[in-house]
Amino acid sequence: MPLSANNPTRKTWLETPKQTDFPIQNIPFGVFLTRDDVITIGTRIGNYAIDLGALHQLGYFDGIPLTDDIFLQDTLNDFIADGRKTWRLVRNRISEIFEESNPALRENKKHRDIVIFGLDEVEMQLPVQIGDYTDFYSSIEHATNVGTMFRGKENALMPNWLHLPVAYHGRSSSIIPSGIPVHRPQGQKLPNGATAPIFGPSRLVDFELEMAFITTAANQLGESIPVNEAEEYIFGLVLFNDWSARDIQKWEYVPLGPFLAKNFASSISPWIVTLDALEPFRVDSPEQKKELLPYLQSSGKKSFDINLEVALQPEGKKETVISKSNFKYMYWNMSQQLAHHTVNGCPVNAGDMMGSGTLSGPTPSTYGSMLELSWRGEKPVKLKEGGDRKFIEDNDTVIIRGFSKSNEHPRIGFGEVSTKLLPVFEPKTK
Ligand code: MN
Repeated sequence: MPLSANNPTRKTWLETPKQTDFPIQNIPFGVFLTRDDVITIGTRIGNYAIDLGALHQLGYFDGIPLTDDIFLQDTLNDFIADGRKTWRLVRNRISEIFEESNPALRENKKHRDIVIFGLDEVEMQLPVQIGDYTDFYSSIEHATNVGTMFRGKENALMPNWLHLPVAYHGRSSSIIPSGIPVHRPQGQKLPNGATAPIFGPSRLVDFELEMAFITTAANQLGESIPVNEAEEYIFGLVLFNDWSARDIQKWEYVPLGPFLAKNFASSISPWIVTLDALEPFRVDSPEQKKELLPYLQSSGKKSFDINLEVALQPEGKKETVISKSNFKYMYWNMSQQLAHHTVNGCPVNAGDMMGSGTLSGPTPSTYGSMLELSWRGEKPVKLKEGGDRKFIEDNDTVIIRGFSKSNEHPRIGFGEVSTKLLPVFEPKTK
């Protein structure tokens, strides 16, 4: 099916800012609460949120096989479960409705008033009910940096790392949308030189610059997904900040991997940008350093050129951009991740989320965590308005942004995921 929604020359009758992440070629999907307290599935063009539930009720999706209430829901799970053919039909139709020469909605003020909202009139929600969440560890630079810090340069990469995309099963209950603040976690830590742990606030709270992809129902128990079919089951991507407490992590992670150091919160951007919208930005993955087992051998361009940046904003101050990286640095691509995840017959459902792992690049300015940027706190990161940071301090806000851009295609962006770190939670006493 043609991706007519991606037509780079198409213009919309809506007024959009020049540098927007959300031109008519993007058409992401999200869930929002309207000014009338109605929850609905929507899309975004420029700085307008568009109510797809209302558009559907008004007949604008006639001819596309959709259930009546498919967009009148508080999650995208059912729409995602409808599969790639339906996503494409809907995205193409939305593009037609807002195409500049199409008068149907453009000239119908009554309908426009029902369907189109300013961004300040809506409140973005978590776009999917995430059933299962898995976090990969797929940047060779990040794995090498962290391994060097914990085990020395010679043993930086574990023997399995170049043979399989390492991951752990995370927790979905603490995944939150952009704008929801997070409390500094408390837990067990082993102070340097001590023989017994202490309990208290984490002193090494960190972000992880990641992206995450969201799947549709992919396989039954026992079935596996071939690596070169895996993209059929990927709906789209979001920006992902995998909050981490490095002192808790260091004490707890042996032998089963991260637990409480990671599951206190992870933040995502609210608009899911479809894999289809990113089609013009395909690139090769980094060269593989080992011959892979056949089930991991992917062919063609399976990675995407997505510029990423992290900004840190202390309370009441200007932000400082502290890292610039790219999704394309990821050593294991999403197809390999999904093929590996299911090779043993583990089922993947609509609304599952797979984190990339911290997306560090080859140079220090591209590192995707404070752990690496400040190299365990040895090289504090300077801030624009004075002061510096080894890790994240109370009332700091961490903002991740991402976008793709080329000379041939309009910018396709993700907006941002912005999260403030609050002090340790204090129970209210009467
Ligand atoms: Mn992570």
